[in-house]
Amino acid sequence: MENLVLQKDQFPDFIKGLTSNHIVYGPVKEDGFSLFKNIKEAGELNLKYLLTRVSPKSLIFKQTETLFKFTPGRKGSVSSSEIYDEKSIIFAIRPCDARSFKILDPVFNGDFEDPFYISKRENTILIGLTCNKPERNCFCTSFDDSPGSTENVDILFTDLDNRFYIEVVTEKGKNLIEPMSKLLAKSSSDEEEAKKIIVNSSVETISREMNLKGIVPKLDGMFDHELWFNTALKCIGCGICTFLCPTCHCFDMQDESTLREGARIRVWDSCMYPEYTHHASGHNPRPSRMNRVRNRVYHKFSYFPKNEDVTACTGCGRCIDFCPVNIDIIDLIEKVEVLAK
Ligand code: SF4
Ligand code: SF4
Repeated sequence: MENLVLQKDQFPDFIKGLTSNHIVYGPVKEDGFSLFKNIKEAGELNLKYLLTRVSPKSLIFKQTETLFKFTPGRKGSVSSSEIYDEKSIIFAIRPCDARSFKILDPVFNGDFEDPFYISKRENTILIGLTCNKPERNCFCTSFDDSPGSTENVDILFTDLDNRFYIEVVTEKGKNLIEPMSKLLAKSSSDEEEAKKIIVNSSVETISREMNLKGIVPKLDGMFDHELWFNTALKCIGCGICTFLCPTCHCFDMQDESTLREGARIRVWDSCMYPEYTHHASGHNPRPSRMNRVRNRVYHKFSYFPKNEDVTACTGCGRCIDFCPVNIDIIDLIEKVEVLAK
């Protein structure tokens, strides 16, 4: 598809064009950290950030979502579910976060079809932003991804100082920006070259690497290894690693009700919590923290690749940045490398 250029002085009008018929979410800075919020104009955006603390998965797989409402009692009723059908855009999503949907899609739109996730996913356009300056714990390149990947977005922006280079990837993306064509010009090989230089320099900056060669059989052979006990001694079970992870997708369902009305609500859950998978009978298949620490690693690097043919990690580095006791998933996988027989 044709690639384009947007001069920075036209950017506010471009964003105005997007917000005229879509709900636009973009990265903003609030209380010292960056998060995705509904924006109305370009001035609200903070494109200097790299990763928002909470990943944009929260815009599609909501942290809290009402599935249906009901009135209790013999004459009670259930109201039909509210399915989201508004047109949205996630602007300036980073390539690693865009790739997280490749991991979430088979969960919510596979054997089981989740209408809440699917409707938001289908009604949302992803506009990516190339990473000019990866952070110290970024390792997307370990997954054959790139700081300038167009693979999972509809459009990709690359910041070239005074202008944006725009790669239109999908038909959805093309239709979105067509009405704003008067703000855009055709790109030349200069922009393509400039993007290559940025991406190459970003790739060179990435210093961390996860070696995933043979990881599945290696993990298969060390289910009872003391590595999991030793790691669990350090872990405090706070669940931050799972809540911030763009690929974690466990949830709980709870009924909240008064005598007159109630709602069934879906909320994010974490495999790091003792109540997680606690059966009504009292049995808990993962009774100790060791079981839970091990499960987190196996789910991402063994079970998910076996079931869906993709590793459930994007290399975003959030769990490393924010673990309060410095448990580092790259170091853990490196230990598996060394300790596996
Ligand atoms: S963030 Fe760290 S301490 Fe908290 S649950 Fe995860 S691994 Fe354990
Ligand atoms: S496991 Fe850690 S590095 Fe991998 S996607 Fe999740 S938060 Fe990012």
